[in-house]
Amino acid sequence: MPLTEEAFTALVDAGCAGCTSKKLTVETYVAQRLPLLGGELYGSPSWAYRGEELVAGTFRIGCEGCARDLFRATACPRCDAPDGVARALEAENAFPLPVSCASCGSEQVTVTAYVPATVVYEGKRAAKARTQTAPEDPGFHAFRAECKQCRTVAERRSPCPLCARA
Ligand SMILES: [Zn+2]
Ligand SMILES: [Zn+2]
Ligand SMILES: [Zn+2]
Repeated sequence: MPLTEEAFTALVDAGCAGCTSKKLTVETYVAQRLPLLGGELYGSPSWAYRGEELVAGTFRIGCEGCARDLFRATACPRCDAPDGVARALEAENAFPLPVSCASCGSEQVTVTAYVPATVVYEGKRAAKARTQTAPEDPGFHAFRAECKQCRTVAERRSPCPLCARA
């Protein structure tokens, strides 16, 4: 079962029952926007998710103090397929990063991808999300490309962009 916002808030508010640490690591799948030029990263990626999407994508909440799991999900956060988290983390990107726009030929395209990210919480206070996952790494899953010039969008919703279930 994915976490509800109430359950998420209750977990981070309570902290760790084992060592009473308030510092928790949230592992989640969230969207990131990547500016591309000719299919290569051009500039800094930026986060593209709302709070409720961070909660919906959460597959682990762990204690920073004693490393115990306070929450762990194995089903895909997007389609609920069994073992979807493991498949998403292991699979390579299946949405090729476009070298240019199919409509106008511009090489400036913005891609949106799901990436695994960690967010450190101390009570209600959340640090900035961080990811180690780049387009060439397993676990990176692009699903949308938008041309910066003409705004033409290519998007894939099926199969599931995270776990590839049809
Ligand atoms: Zn602990
Ligand atoms: Zn275009
Ligand atoms: Zn899925």
